[in-house]
Amino acid sequence: MHCLNYRHITDLSLTELREAVGSMGEPDYRLHQLKRWVYQKRVGSFEAMSNVPKRFRAVLAERFDIAKLKIASRLSSSDGDAVKFAFTVEQDNGTAFESVLLYDGKRRTACLSSQLGCGLGCSFCETGRMGFLRNLSRAEILGQLIALNDYLADHEDKLVTNVVFMGMGEALGNYSRFRSSLDIIMDEDCFNLGGRRITVSTAGVVPSIDRFAEERLNVGLAVSLNAYNDRMRERIMPINRQYPIAELIAAARRYAAKTGTTVTFEYVVVRGENDGEEAVGSLIRLLKGLPCKLNLIPMNPAGEGASKAPSDEALRAMADKLFERGLTVTVRKSRGRDIWGACGQLAGKLGENLSKSKSGACPKTISWK
Ligand code: SF4
Repeated sequence: MHCLNYRHITDLSLTELREAVGSMGEPDYRLHQLKRWVYQKRVGSFEAMSNVPKRFRAVLAERFDIAKLKIASRLSSSDGDAVKFAFTVEQDNGTAFESVLLYDGKRRTACLSSQLGCGLGCSFCETGRMGFLRNLSRAEILGQLIALNDYLADHEDKLVTNVVFMGMGEALGNYSRFRSSLDIIMDEDCFNLGGRRITVSTAGVVPSIDRFAEERLNVGLAVSLNAYNDRMRERIMPINRQYPIAELIAAARRYAAKTGTTVTFEYVVVRGENDGEEAVGSLIRLLKGLPCKLNLIPMNPAGEGASKAPSDEALRAMADKLFERGLTVTVRKSRGRDIWGACGQLAGKLGENLSKSKSGACPKTISWK
């Protein structure tokens, strides 16, 4: 895939696909057939599209590629609640972009990447440590979802029910491809997932949040907050120097108002740093009146973060205090840790990931030192 001198069919936006089919002199219903073959039946060749005329298939094959993404590795977590996929493309010299399939009751959630690496440099994030390498193409974003659905279908399971853009990169930083991928994810002939089943995570790029709000798509927004004041947040999330907490929260309020959705705030709890009375009071003040949910995520107890991981009781007590003062709070566990599939753990280095996953090591730590 993609080392080609002609375009991948999934790299076309819906508008481009409509124009391409029209330019071939085909009727409208052919577009519906084509979308279903590509995104619902997920065929690997135009030849397999048995209910479309041969001449149409031949023209498609002349103009477009339809090969699947190359899966370089696939790892399952020991407790069976996550599978991590690594994809490689020739031009990247072995650096992979990754997706994680999460199992949670009846949900099958695809956590997708939007960039190879990330330029925002959050100190706790493995992807951030890679730096920004490139934006993923639309075909690479959608190809991840096709691969995860292929895997589920092979296991006679239901297909992906939810999509979160929480893999490698800041999706709002690859805006046009992310946005046009959403059209296809939501299209009823394609993945047919409504906005309520989709969430995009952001480190807090305020203008992009406002731009996305204008789309009024009903898609969930998850803001990676992690700190309750600017001094603290700047030390772990450099983007905060550009867009401080007050601006970020104001943008989240605008997003909630324009889309009618509840904004999720992700908050990794670090013992002795961002978990005390001051944190509780500040979070209440910051989020008051904003339709939101606060996810408390305990810092990973593995590796260097061991001494900073909150106890279950302390985490519960913090959640109770926030709840009593009016916030909707959930305590989230981080799934797929042993395969480096938890948030902030996607590093794109195949050999390293595989070997570290065997040792059970996990790099997710937030340090203010
Ligand atoms: S946490 Fe998200 S925004 Fe921050 S460096 Fe990692 S991928 Fe980028």
